[in-house]
Parts: sequence; C-alpha cells; structure tokens
Amino acid sequence: MIRLALKPGREKSVLRRHPWIFSGSIASESGDGSDGRAEVVDAAGKPIARGAYSPHSQIVARLWTFDGRTPDLDLFRERFAAARRLRKDVLPADTSGFRAVNSEGDRCAGVLVDVFGEVAVMELLTEGTELWRKDLELAARETFTPARLVIRESGSDRDRGVRQSSLPRRGEGVAHAPFLENGLRFFADVSSGQKTGFYLDQRDNRSRLRSLANGRSVLDLFSYSGAFSVAALAGGARRAVDVDSSDVALALAREHRRANGFPVHDRDFVRADVFEDLRRRAESRESWDVVVCDPPAFAKKRGDLRRAARGYQDVNRLAMSLVAPGGWLLTCSCSGLLSADLFGKIVFSASLEAGAEFAVVSRAGAGPDHPVSLDCPEGEYLKGLWLRRAG
Ligand code: SAH
Repeated sequence: MIRLALKPGREKSVLRRHPWIFSGSIASESGDGSDGRAEVVDAAGKPIARGAYSPHSQIVARLWTFDGRTPDLDLFRERFAAARRLRKDVLPADTSGFRAVNSEGDRCAGVLVDVFGEVAVMELLTEGTELWRKDLELAARETFTPARLVIRESGSDRDRGVRQSSLPRRGEGVAHAPFLENGLRFFADVSSGQKTGFYLDQRDNRSRLRSLANGRSVLDLFSYSGAFSVAALAGGARRAVDVDSSDVALALAREHRRANGFPVHDRDFVRADVFEDLRRRAESRESWDVVVCDPPAFAKKRGDLRRAARGYQDVNRLAMSLVAPGGWLLTCSCSGLLSADLFGKIVFSASLEAGAEFAVVSRAGAGPDHPVSLDCPEGEYLKGLWLRRAG
C-alpha cells in the first residue's frame, strides 16, 4: 500500500467523504502501490482514508473507506451485498437486466457491475481496481451468482486517456446475453457492444415512452440497439424509426423488434449521421408525434465543453423542428461535465432558434439502480427532459 500525504488544507474534501484525490493535492508519496491500494494521510501524517491507487490518472486515488479499513475481499463482499439489497427494493417486476453495482453510488469507486439475465459484466474503471480484479471477481461471483461473468478492464486505458473503442475483454464465450426489461426481451452485446452492452440507465424513460406512445409515430435518434423504439411499439406506437451511425447497433435493433414480435421494415432502420439525417427531415418538413434524442457524450473533457454545447444546441434545434404541435421530445445528455442547469439553458436556446414553444413536463435521469452518493454528486451524469410542444 502506498502512502499519499496531502498538502495542507487538501484533507477537507476527504473529511467530507468526497472519494476522489487529485494528483495536484499530493505533497509526497512513500511505499509501494503495486497492490493497487493507497492510504491517504493529512499534512500532519494522520491516516484519513483508503482506496484504489491509479498513478497514471489525474485522480490518483478513489476512496473506499474513511475508518481505517483496508479494501479487501471481505469489504468487497459487504459492499456488493448492500448493493444487491438496494436493487431488491427498487427494481420493477419482469426485469432481469439492471446495474448491480454503480461505482461511487454504491461506495465501490471504479467498479461497475451490470447483470443481464444469467450473465454479469464487471467493468473495472481504474488501474487500481484492475489490480483488485481477483478479489472483486470472487465477490461478484458469490454475490450475484451469474452463470457467466465477463470482465472489462478499461481502467488502465482510461487513466492514460486512451480511447477504448476496441477493448479486450476476458469473456467466457458469450456474445449476446438475453434479459428482460419490464417484460420486454433484449440482448446485451457484451462481447463487443458499447458500454457493458446495453444502456440500462434509460429504463425509466423507456417505460414513460411506452405509456404515452399509443397510436403515435416515434423517431428514435442515436438509437443504439433500438430499445426506445421497442418500448414505444409495446405501448402501441403506430411506427418507430431508429437512426444510428452504427451498423452493428442497427442489426441488434432489428433483432430486438423480432424478439418482441414486432415486424421489421428496412425503412425503419436508418444508418446515418443524425445531424445530416435531421437536416434532410427538416427540409422536407417532416412531423413526428414523439422524438427521442439520446446522443453520446459530446463533452468528454473540459476543453470540449464549448463545442459540445454547440452540438447539443444544433441537434435539439433540428429535433424540435420535427415535433408536431402537442407532441413530445425526450432530450438527453449523458455528459457528466455538462450540468443540468447548463443543459436546460442550451435546450431553451435551441427552442428559440427553432421558433417552437415547449414546456418541461418532467425531468428524468437514470433509474434507481444507478444510485448517486451525496458525497459524490459527480456521479449524476444522465439528464433527461420530457418536453411537450405547445399546440
Ligand atoms: N438511446 C440509446 C443509447 C444511445 S448511445 C439506448 O437507449 O440504448 C449513442 C448512440 O449514438 C450510439 O449507438 C452511437 O453509435 C450513436 N452515434 C454517435 N454519434 C452519432 C452520429 N453523429 N450520428 C448517428 N449516430 C451516432
């Protein structure tokens, strides 16, 4: 375990249990961090926290305990068991796909576990937690008893700022893991898909879409595997169209419709850049009852914010122009760096540019299997606004 001594005054956030230690707050280091463990001490040398050590990240330590306990197998077991109990309280019926461990939100900084039916996917988000893999894996197997466990080690790459489009995974020969969400059948693309294979965080928004879709036309922008469209069709939507730039995602979107007994028409799967596709649709004055706009994070680092804001404004302006009077727009941002407040302002500017009046009817982010610790508000990344067009 390496010992990280903080500069004077830098212990304040730790005493408030904030779990991140930035490299700039370290005065000196001693010892050996090769086991991935760090002990944080204040300027007077008093131990105040322990956690996972990531020497190549700006966040050199992510804290797990503030009472002197060492992160080890027993602690992992306890934290995972607590996470499992929470899910028992909050998950809807007929739902076997859920986030089982949500990093800081479950006091397990740097560890995600998503469960898809019989398969669990554990993602280790930092170099430190990668070094704890053996014990984390054991605790995950014991707690969640998956038939198969896939491990995604993205930590070392993330810490070094490497893009992770083609991550190697320690799989156990699974590609598509079937699961249920509110009784609908989906497959997580756990071997090569985005994230851990499915965007579980949008479950509540899909369920709301389902409840208002009856008889309506739905345009699903940045659709990935088309889960919003499937929810809309289950709610009686007249038609649902998926737009995404990824062929792999759209192939899975077709499978999802088939698996739920909906017809598959080529014209309902559009491989295109959403910005270009929207411009075409706007020029031909298309009108949709419901538009869903759930883009990837346009801002991944602070320097991106300006350009990202412009991107969100453009895509929202174009999407708004397609919404029929009295229709709905669900617009989302999953950039953690973009605050809910700023996102609201961007969406407002877009409505001015579009010359369209909307009211915010509901604000909805990730579901309750994505808890956010009060100690670490940065964990709240997904912002969704349900907007209704006047008319
Ligand atoms: N709404 C989805 C998740 C969206 S993730 C769900 O609930 O499952 C973002 C998606 O946007 C990815 O599938 C990615 O392939 C796609 N994408 C990213 N940039 C794009 C662009 N410029 N045009 C079209 N699709 C894009």
